[in-house]
Amino acid sequence: MEQVYNFSAGPSMLPKEVLEKAQKEMLNYGDTGQSIMEMSHRSKEYYEIHNEAKKIFCEIMNIPNNYKVLMLQGGGSLQFSMVPMNLFKNGCADYAVTGYWADKAAIEAKKHLKVNRVLGSEDKKFSYIPKFDKSALSKDADYFHITTNNTIYGTRYIEIPITEEIPLVADMSSNILSESYDVSKFGLIYAAAQKNMGTSGVTFVIINENLIEKSLDFLPSAMSYETHSKNDSIYNTPPTYSIYISMLVCKWIKNNGGVEHINKLNEEKAKILYDCLDESKIFYGTAEKKFRSIMNVVFLSKSKEIDEKFISEAYKEGLINLKGHKSIGGMRASIYNAMPIEGIKKLVKFMKNFEYENKSI
Ligand SMILES: *Cc1c(COP(=O)(O)O)cnc(C)c1O
Repeated sequence: MEQVYNFSAGPSMLPKEVLEKAQKEMLNYGDTGQSIMEMSHRSKEYYEIHNEAKKIFCEIMNIPNNYKVLMLQGGGSLQFSMVPMNLFKNGCADYAVTGYWADKAAIEAKKHLKVNRVLGSEDKKFSYIPKFDKSALSKDADYFHITTNNTIYGTRYIEIPITEEIPLVADMSSNILSESYDVSKFGLIYAAAQKNMGTSGVTFVIINENLIEKSLDFLPSAMSYETHSKNDSIYNTPPTYSIYISMLVCKWIKNNGGVEHINKLNEEKAKILYDCLDESKIFYGTAEKKFRSIMNVVFLSKSKEIDEKFISEAYKEGLINLKGHKSIGGMRASIYNAMPIEGIKKLVKFMKNFEYENKSI
């Protein structure tokens, strides 16, 4: 296939400019005669990439000075464990279970502390985000965990909870850098890179310095925020190439008007697709309108057979990876920052044609 539009939930599309730059620098980075993959993580050249990645990320996310940025391994999933292991104080935490990943995070945390499931949305198949109410939180909670964008059910928080003295922890794996967030409202933010800011292998953690404390004795060094913070994320060999790709992605965002501008484009892209769903007689969106994700658009048709026909015909048109997650079925179009508006327009055109041609079913 030549040009495809890849709607995969992750790993997902990267900006073409980023891939081209990486290709250009693949064999000989900055006249060093080596690929970045072959370089020592203690070399001057690598340090520059490492620091540049952090610096541009802080810039485009507007991260205050009293926060540290860590670049870690183990994916979003390891953060499900590192968060409770590192933020443990009273031994209890509140989790808003608003989707599949939020549930996984709560399950992992329960291995380390008492988990209270509050403000969840399982009652309506995770199709909405409950209104925040501070009185629902436990008085002695070490933190309150949310998932800002629910990758599988296609919902997002449109208002960030104000938790005051209780640190707010957010999994932003599927919408980091897609819209502007006031980082000072959070105690900790984490995001695996492979959805919206690079390739798998690196996970970004933004943590308020107040929350970096002396680790409990049983904690493995490689799982301690204190260790990684003290060593500037080079305690051991970091995922150098993944960090390099994330650096290029951050630069691409910066050169394209920053997160605010990208957010406008994302809103525009999502609207085109949701408008199509709202007008359709055979497709419908599953998330409540108010809470619709601008990253993951989840929709169903009237039957499984139509879903399958749609997915396979779309594939032939170069519209790939539209199959929904097994827990909800149907279709999911993941339209992260790197998805060009042309991809959305092509999909919508295809959906309208499909609907016309299948009027009778
Ligand atoms: C994909 C995803 C994860 C899991 O990330 P891994 O890097 O595969 O561990 C966690 N949280 C959310 C919201 C995700 O979308």
